[in-house]
Amino acid sequence: MYARISSDVEGSGLEVTRQLEDCRKLANSLGWSVAEEYVDNDMSAYSGKRRPAYERMLADLRDGERDAVIVYHVDRLTRRPIELEQFLEALDAAKVRQVRFVVGDTDLSTGDGLMVVRILAAMAANESATKSRRVKRKMEQNAAASLPHGGYVRAFSYAEDKVTVIESEAVVIRQFAERFLAGESLRSLAAWLEDNEVATVAGKPWRTTTLRAVLASGRIAGLREHQGVIVGPAVWPAIISEEQHRRIRALMQQKAVSGRRAPRRYALSGLLRCGKCGHPLYSAARQTTRRYVCVSGPDHGGCGRLTVVAAPVEELIAKAVLYRLDTSELADALAGRTAQDEALAEVTEQLAGDRAQLEELATAYADRAITMRANG
Ligand SMILES: [Zn+2]
Repeated sequence: MYARISSDVEGSGLEVTRQLEDCRKLANSLGWSVAEEYVDNDMSAYSGKRRPAYERMLADLRDGERDAVIVYHVDRLTRRPIELEQFLEALDAAKVRQVRFVVGDTDLSTGDGLMVVRILAAMAANESATKSRRVKRKMEQNAAASLPHGGYVRAFSYAEDKVTVIESEAVVIRQFAERFLAGESLRSLAAWLEDNEVATVAGKPWRTTTLRAVLASGRIAGLREHQGVIVGPAVWPAIISEEQHRRIRALMQQKAVSGRRAPRRYALSGLLRCGKCGHPLYSAARQTTRRYVCVSGPDHGGCGRLTVVAAPVEELIAKAVLYRLDTSELADALAGRTAQDEALAEVTEQLAGDRAQLEELATAYADRAITMRANG
């Protein structure tokens, strides 16, 4: 098992303990015994500083001491595409075929799996290179507008003092708690919000993930939470009862455990765009055929009029990506050498956006795998 703490990418909110915990769970479910946990503390990853544990793991792989690797996500494993290639070479030389990721799991023994892991590594590297630039610009903007750091927004149904109840929103929460407990889906509740033009506190349309977080929160039951654990009654008034809160959590847990959703096996989910309306396409299988579809409704907002069979598209994209990866322009972009170039800066922003989207999906996936702790 390999884990790394760093400050380079968005996903790094993940402390090492959580990475290790989830990796151990995966090992457990695979029935693998863990020979060693390699951990690096690498706060400035992109600088190219040495990682002793990582190097030790590579050496052990090459020496045939290890026959499998588990990592949380490929962005924990490698910081630059060239490191990924070194890792893949080491695997090849040692004939190690067993590599698993907690998030973004792909089969490295197939061409498609290799393609996916290379794309993820390229995106992680790109994120590292552009992040410092974006953060700096954001801080300058905030300073110019006299805004505090970070974006504080109030919680739905409470005013900005975090204590006063906003009755018009509390009514919605009470009603939703009852409807959810009566069996209505989050998707249908989110659709109701959309139809009635009720926005989130950030002024955005509701997603089921946002709605789930609100309904599952101890906050609306007047409970103070710390790191996902209820620590006692809060100073603010409750909107729903503690008993309702417990039943909502239990119901969500039950749905998560029943696992109606399959693990993600669609490399391009959320990355492809509908040719008719421009919205991202998501995975949907029909019997044994893997497909990408334009999904209408609250979470997606597409037109629902486009469906494409996955395999040929993935093959086409694989070819296009490999072609692009082979250009000196991309090598420069990944190395951060073209930050001055306007056109390329725009493309790298887009890439960063797409990656954030990918990360969001991955996080949602991870959240299901680790019960509801992260929803608090
Ligand atoms: Zn569409």
